[in-house]
Amino acid sequence: MASKGSLADGVWRALRPVPGLVQPDVVLPDVADGALVAVVVAQGQVCWVGPNDAVPAAYAALPQWDGGGALATPGLVDCHTHLVYGGQRANEFAMRLAGATYEEVARAGGGIVSSVKATRAATEDELFALAAPRLQALLQEGVCAIEIKSGYGLALEHERKQLRVARRLGEAFGVTVCTTFLGAHALPPEYMGRSQAYTDLVCNEMLPALAAEGLVDAVDVFCERIAFTLAETEQVFQAAQKLGIPVKLHAEQLSDMGGSALAARYGALSCDHIEHLSADGIAAMQSAGTVAVLLPGAYYTLRDTQLPPIAALRAAGVPMAVSTDHNPGTSPALSLLLMANMACTLFRLTVPEALAGITTHAARALGLQDSHGLIASGRPANFVLWPVAEAAELAYWLGHKPAATIVRQGLVVADGLGVCAVAGDHHGV
Ligand SMILES: [Zn+2]
Repeated sequence: MASKGSLADGVWRALRPVPGLVQPDVVLPDVADGALVAVVVAQGQVCWVGPNDAVPAAYAALPQWDGGGALATPGLVDCHTHLVYGGQRANEFAMRLAGATYEEVARAGGGIVSSVKATRAATEDELFALAAPRLQALLQEGVCAIEIKSGYGLALEHERKQLRVARRLGEAFGVTVCTTFLGAHALPPEYMGRSQAYTDLVCNEMLPALAAEGLVDAVDVFCERIAFTLAETEQVFQAAQKLGIPVKLHAEQLSDMGGSALAARYGALSCDHIEHLSADGIAAMQSAGTVAVLLPGAYYTLRDTQLPPIAALRAAGVPMAVSTDHNPGTSPALSLLLMANMACTLFRLTVPEALAGITTHAARALGLQDSHGLIASGRPANFVLWPVAEAAELAYWLGHKPAATIVRQGLVVADGLGVCAVAGDHHGV
């Protein structure tokens, strides 16, 4: 299942840039005039970005690809997913339709714990086979980097299994995968009523072991009244800090726990959900440079009515990312473009905010701001050419998967626009 694709090395001409999504020192031609840019890729890296008519002569010998005026964005970044799990939870969907709330479902033994059962019962290969088509659905839409959390194992061997599958998915599909250890996602059934003992296990045994195996890029906690307290969250953050691993937080989804301010004190990469985020939380995130990750798929699925404080985040200059939060319970979403649409429609993000949310700001939420989320020289070639007339179309269509040309990790992995088919058969995909 190795990633297929031909080398993207060459001069990609006649591309329409999206302001803000190309390196800031490039003087862009006036996009309103329909002026175009070129991107030069050599050895899988972007090595030059600039006006279409100013490509240095040194690159003349490289293959020349004619983008035909296609809109170019950086590869998309999905910065919050629970992609690896056993089973699915359509039954809870039905329960909620019959009137049950998320908390009632959780208290009835459904929710996260039912995914824990199914995940524990699955082998590593089974989990890989289940997650692969989900990942493919996201990749087909131009995702070039993705975060995958554990949190359905809730025991060392099963958390390890999930994180190993996440790593294997990255290698098999040629996509950047950031692994996040979310051992503190829910109390496993065998620890019911022993929250402190489980938190100790997470901090003292699971995290150090998994970190030593190179399986943990970040540490996350579900800080909520149905999950972990503020004090338990801080204990996990301290354990992560001791190992030099960055933290992030499922924060203020169902109530204002003050988790975001705590996370900001630990320099969190992101606080995610944040429907109930307070003014103090916003101020703390702003000063720590913490990204606000908006998850409209969960908001939609739960029919939440508490909107995240978008206007206040915007006014404070807190970067806002948008992600699928793909998970079997509250956001079985497999389209980042649909999430961009929902972020606009439900949360009133502007189109440029939504596009930055699934690229630049999402990369920052993963600590990948120097390698992903921007078309810029010195970075691995990850970009998408879209068959659309204007950038707003990326957030406008509902459930439409445009046939894009996708360059991921220096390879042309899809060529919906036929750019490479025209340019030469040895580069056809
Ligand atoms: Zn989540």
